[in-house]
Amino acid sequence: MYIDSHCHINFPELAERLPDILGKMADNKVTHALCVSVNLPEFPQVLALAEQHANVYASVGVHPDYEDTPEPDVEQLCRLAEHPKIVAIGETGLDYYRLEGDLEWQRERFRTHIRASRACGKPLIIHTRSASDDTLRIMREEGAGTTAGGAGGVMHCFTESLEVARAAMDMGFFISFSGIVTFKSAKELQAVAQEVPLENMLIETDSPYLAPVPHRGKTNEPGFVCHVAEYIAKLKNLPVEQVAQQTSANFFKLFKGAAA
Ligand SMILES: [Zn+2]
Ligand SMILES: [Zn+2]
Repeated sequence: MYIDSHCHINFPELAERLPDILGKMADNKVTHALCVSVNLPEFPQVLALAEQHANVYASVGVHPDYEDTPEPDVEQLCRLAEHPKIVAIGETGLDYYRLEGDLEWQRERFRTHIRASRACGKPLIIHTRSASDDTLRIMREEGAGTTAGGAGGVMHCFTESLEVARAAMDMGFFISFSGIVTFKSAKELQAVAQEVPLENMLIETDSPYLAPVPHRGKTNEPGFVCHVAEYIAKLKNLPVEQVAQQTSANFFKLFKGAAA
């Protein structure tokens, strides 16, 4: 069984073909998916998907790429995270690639999410792009890691160096690989995936984006996460069943609110 640890099936291109999406998951032995929140106005749709489908979980948070959107506070995030199907806080983090200018608001928003995670005990889903130094610094300053009494979490859709992966793992974080790892051009990331122990790894689609080979360029969906597992199995010279089993066990170890 495979688990897609990060998808956006509430986005219109997937939501409108939901029965087909869930059917394809079953066909490909993708047993569970975590639908990740990107802002508060769309959170009710994310939660509804998790309430309607036993094998779909959800998170609550505001993505760093959403500039003009209601700002969350710690109490609000904790209150929304009380729901039993909400298993994580995020996605949150820093993105200096998509946005420019004074991004102090992104860093403040990130700190709010880490404080909420510590307060409610639910792990973080962290997005970081062209901002790894500040991301790690703020994680340390706010005590995000399990080693600092935080709830830990996952560095999702990981595209950074092995050094960054190790720094995050040292704080008790998991590293999640998306379809990017299957791309021909992703040699450096493939080398990172080879070094990250299977015990610290999750897999994801980040659908509808970033479809893995052999579906590259098409709309991505949770059912395609098996291709990420297959690629990692090939990289590590392991049976795909072992990658599937271990990454699924890791998912339930991290997201304790999700029942196997
Ligand atoms: Zn992201
Ligand atoms: Zn995402």
